[in-house]
Amino acid sequence: LDREEPNHFGAGPAQLPTPVLQQAAKDLVNYKGIGLGIGEISHRSGDATEVIESTKANLRKLLNVPETHEVFFMQGGGTTGFSSLATNLVAAHVGKTGSAGTAGYLVTGSWSAKALEEAQRLGIESEMLFNAKDYNNGKFGAIPPESAWAEKLKAKDYSYVYLCENETVHGVEWPQLPKALVDSGIEIVADLSSDILSRAIDVSQYGVIMAGAQKNIGLAGLTLYIIKKSILQDISAASLDQLRQLGVPITPIAFEYPTVVKNNSAYNTIPIFTLHIVDLVLRHVLEKGGLAAQEEENDAKSQLLYNVLDKHSDFYKIPVSKDCRSRMNVVFTLKKEGFDKKFLDEAAKRNLTGLKGHRSVGGFRASLYNAVSLDSTKKLVQFVDEFATQNA
Ligand code: PLP
Repeated sequence: LDREEPNHFGAGPAQLPTPVLQQAAKDLVNYKGIGLGIGEISHRSGDATEVIESTKANLRKLLNVPETHEVFFMQGGGTTGFSSLATNLVAAHVGKTGSAGTAGYLVTGSWSAKALEEAQRLGIESEMLFNAKDYNNGKFGAIPPESAWAEKLKAKDYSYVYLCENETVHGVEWPQLPKALVDSGIEIVADLSSDILSRAIDVSQYGVIMAGAQKNIGLAGLTLYIIKKSILQDISAASLDQLRQLGVPITPIAFEYPTVVKNNSAYNTIPIFTLHIVDLVLRHVLEKGGLAAQEEENDAKSQLLYNVLDKHSDFYKIPVSKDCRSRMNVVFTLKKEGFDKKFLDEAAKRNLTGLKGHRSVGGFRASLYNAVSLDSTKKLVQFVDEFATQNA
């Protein structure tokens, strides 16, 4: 069960801490010496329930989740979240106010754009509060100032406002939640798939947090949710007849949040091995000193890389404004044409992998998730530095 420590900068699924995988591999075969693997036991057994409770408790501890919020898990990924967030949150608005309202979306990159597309596809009354492309020469890479859109929050009865905290493809990260939105009292629904546990956050400001597990916290196949308990009550208060009359799509039962929560995340078969890995990752982050230590390390890693890219700004281009550069996904291109393959080949020779940019934007992307060490980052920084010097 050994491997050479990887230096893998892939955007997801992403590298996980080796000790976590080693423990998980053992538990897959024989969990706690019971003679069966963790994936072979009933999802309602005592051992499985213990995994669910432990993961919830460790997440609460790490993120300082207040009593006002509930934690739960579901199968699927970020994309299933796009659909279930939309239908559940509109139902909550119906339960609370009797009307469906309008769902607002802040579009800062391809993932928030996809979330909006899904709400529209489902027939949910929605509005794009801004498209960041319109403020940045037709390209993602900047976040418009609040003065450009905040007034709109007062114009309609918004059921929720959605944002993607870190745009994995375009390397754009909200440095903090927009103040006007927090102050508005509208429920904030946020996709944290690629930045959860990368830094400390104030959970009380969010209506719902959704995160696919396969980047900072585990394997694909599981999605984590943190939701305000009052939203769960509002969803339950909306009757199916009421939703049908208003033309609001009914949430499929396995994705109906109050049903999942009532059943402690085991309404249907929860992928317990995948959840166990999340728990092992959480324990690993706690042992490393929690989110304060993790955030410090992540800041140091991303600063090192941005600094060297800025140092060679005649050679590398960062298509993201300084005030919203992602700490998790550093996106850059070469100014010189015809050198992309050479860059990737030479990086691979140094065992630096996963650097190819997303197919929709090209160039390069170095994902510096929690499991990527400072040491790996320094190796990449040295390579980036030398490659520029040698090929300028
Ligand atoms: N949201 C963000 C921020 C992502 O980075 C991704 C995938 O990379 C998704 C959503 C979609 O996740 P999934 O592939 O699990 O549906």
